[in-house]
Amino acid sequence: MSFESLGLAPALLRALAEQGYAEPTPIQAGAIPVVLEGHDLMAAAQTGTGKTAAFSLPLLQRLSSVQTKGPRKPRALVLTPTRELAAQINDNVRDYGKHLHVSSTTIFGGVGMGPQIQALRRGTDIVIATPGRLVDHMQQRTIDLSQIDVLVLDEADRMLDMGFLPSLKRIVGALPKKRQTLLFSATFAPEIKSLAMQFMQSPHEVSVTPANTVASTVSHQVHPVDASRKRDLLLHVLSQDSRRQSLVFSRTKHGADKLVRHLEQFGLRAAAIHGNKSQNARTRALADFKSGRITVLVATDIAARGIDIDQLPIVINFDLPMVAEDYVHRIGRTGRAGANGLALSLVSHEESGLLRDIRKLLNQEIAINEVPGFELSAPLRLDAHAPRPKPGQRQPQSRSPRQGNNGHRPHGHAQQGKNNGAGEHAMGNRKRRRPRGGKPATGTQR
Ligand code: AMP
Repeated sequence: MSFESLGLAPALLRALAEQGYAEPTPIQAGAIPVVLEGHDLMAAAQTGTGKTAAFSLPLLQRLSSVQTKGPRKPRALVLTPTRELAAQINDNVRDYGKHLHVSSTTIFGGVGMGPQIQALRRGTDIVIATPGRLVDHMQQRTIDLSQIDVLVLDEADRMLDMGFLPSLKRIVGALPKKRQTLLFSATFAPEIKSLAMQFMQSPHEVSVTPANTVASTVSHQVHPVDASRKRDLLLHVLSQDSRRQSLVFSRTKHGADKLVRHLEQFGLRAAAIHGNKSQNARTRALADFKSGRITVLVATDIAARGIDIDQLPIVINFDLPMVAEDYVHRIGRTGRAGANGLALSLVSHEESGLLRDIRKLLNQEIAINEVPGFELSAPLRLDAHAPRPKPGQRQPQSRSPRQGNNGHRPHGHAQQGKNNGAGEHAMGNRKRRRPRGGKPATGTQR
């Protein structure tokens, strides 16, 4: 499958080549032709699947194919729950549309209205907005929505969670009835279906969410822990049964290496597998793990995809994955063939939002048990405003400036988020401590 075969214009193909995108992701392959044909679309896809390009590319193509006269009034409106997403979508739209004459602007709260009003006055083709601030502009009559041809509801489920339904209704009520509507959501939950019924006309459906089924023999547990104490807690957990084979997931390659060095310092036999290791090193690590020469294998998601390990008693998420589906892939390695398995996740406050996504995807409870001696300094939040690490953000426990995202993203173009700092600094000055109250993690711990 190629971008050409989806019917995209040469100017877009050029921009995609410059971005280094070799082929469409499944959501792009499914959505782009449907949108180009002008149909309404309901797409189940999460962040990380390439969904932004799935709507931006055909949107840009449709807009660029119609010449407009006079000052530009917005012809496409993208609604998204947060200002970060709005900014990220705008960056992507500009990257993909760089060889076209299509303009875009963002509208979100927390900044002055003045510059937004000026940008709207100058004229723009695409408005990327959060619902609350857009309603402010509507009230002040600083935006004209009468020419909107295409409406995109991005992360519709999150917008509903955040209480934007009244704003959405108001906005959609002000748009022309004759338009194309595209809705993207992590799930097709009943409230999303009902939104689609109200706002869309016989939408086509595209879904790339893999079946979110996990073996019923797996029990899920979370140990909440500060980012700066995760390594101590991992040692503590591993020392409960030092003969047990444990597969540990790290979000980044560098994090995996650091973790292995740390575990080795405390006498554990561990190895890492990730994309920077040679095939030989990976094969050896896997063979050592299978034969029991090492008891802890630390893997990144991509490296773990292809590994074939029959049965593991425990999978530990040292970091939660950025994309909830990866959780399902990870724990698919335990609880196989009717045996009981445990999926244990060490979750810091900063990862609360990721835990929330996972709970939603699994649609089942996950036991949250604090370990004495590892109490959290900032509690987990599972509400709509739960924090989540930004794409590409360095791990709080990491100190290296060179570390990147391991590659849930098909291409390393993810915005480099700012460090949230907290865990990073806490870790930088941190002395090795023995778990308070718990027994020492291993005999060799100081
Ligand atoms: P999204 O799901 O829209 O947040 O996109 C996730 C990431 O994938 C972004 O960093 C995009 O730049 C990147 N991406 C999107 N489509 C492709 C593609 N076809 N090939 C490679 N990377 C892509």
